[in-house]
Amino acid sequence: MTKILKATKNNLIKAKELLLNGELVGFPTETVYGLGADGTNKRAVSEIYKVKGRPSDNPLIAHVHKDYDLTKLVKNIRPYALDLIKAYTPGPLTLVFESKGVVVDEATCGLNTLAIRMPEKKEAQELLKMVDIPIVAPSANLSKHVSPVTAEHVYNDFNGKIPLIIDGGKCEGGIESTVLDVTGEVPEILRAGLITKEMIEKVVGACKVAVHKEGEKAKSPGVMYTHYRPRTETALFTIDEIEKGLALYEKYVKEGKKPYFMCDESVAEKLVGKNLLSLGKTDKEIASNLYYKLREGEEKADIIIAIEPNGSNGIYEGILNRLRRACR
Ligand code: AMP
Ligand code: MG
Repeated sequence: MTKILKATKNNLIKAKELLLNGELVGFPTETVYGLGADGTNKRAVSEIYKVKGRPSDNPLIAHVHKDYDLTKLVKNIRPYALDLIKAYTPGPLTLVFESKGVVVDEATCGLNTLAIRMPEKKEAQELLKMVDIPIVAPSANLSKHVSPVTAEHVYNDFNGKIPLIIDGGKCEGGIESTVLDVTGEVPEILRAGLITKEMIEKVVGACKVAVHKEGEKAKSPGVMYTHYRPRTETALFTIDEIEKGLALYEKYVKEGKKPYFMCDESVAEKLVGKNLLSLGKTDKEIASNLYYKLREGEEKADIIIAIEPNGSNGIYEGILNRLRRACR
């Protein structure tokens, strides 16, 4: 069955051996837990898609340690990409480069680009340093389910299907990395995250944001799928629509069911006495708690009534994008 082990040296050696043997291992990063496989092993990479039920056209991110020589994997690295690496890695930033094809086609879904990330979390760095190969890893959840931020979340989705999960506690970041295409003259955000447009502009000067239109092929296929969905009913309102949220809450109470509000602290203060999944105060706290609270709501609530936090720029881009897709 699936073991959950602390990130001691001996257990990381076990993880390394499994990975080099073509097996899958769950491991923590500062954003969410990843489901790792040897990125040069076709069979192991295919297994990720099978175990997750992931669509075969949604490519994987290759994870390497902070001293890894990226030119082994990708070519034509632009000077501004080096500046971004210096400024924000290791960290929650994924960069899309032209691939050299070392990481197998199964992981890049036949694209000629490769997404690379150097996670900051100590346990992830240690494991990646030990294996010293690219570990491809999507978020360690069943496809379409909420991303995992604890080892237990990974266990709940994959018990019996993978041999090992390395436990590094709750992920601090809480939402997936920013995905940034750095193949063009100007970088382009494909998926919003904790490294914001403003932070990228500070280093590079300019930064585009990809607009994903229905029916068009997305540059980052993953953003087109229904994602992050809790297995309970959900509803989403803005703060101006809070009366509607309250009416829905009362309706559930009258039916003898358990509704929960999910909201930031400023709204929670107005809802004392109600069942609450409070996300915290600051943008960073909200990001860090979002998936954790969605998974908690899944356990406790008959409906999660989410109230959008008030904010639009910076980290809120990433938060709202996830929240809307989870609760629409
Ligand atoms: P996940 O690992 O589940 O958080 O998803 C990884 C995200 O990175 C998805 O949105 C993918 O579509 C995106 N991604 C991975 N590789 C590439 C690539 N080569 N080009 C563009 N997007 C990518
Ligand atoms: Mg994912």
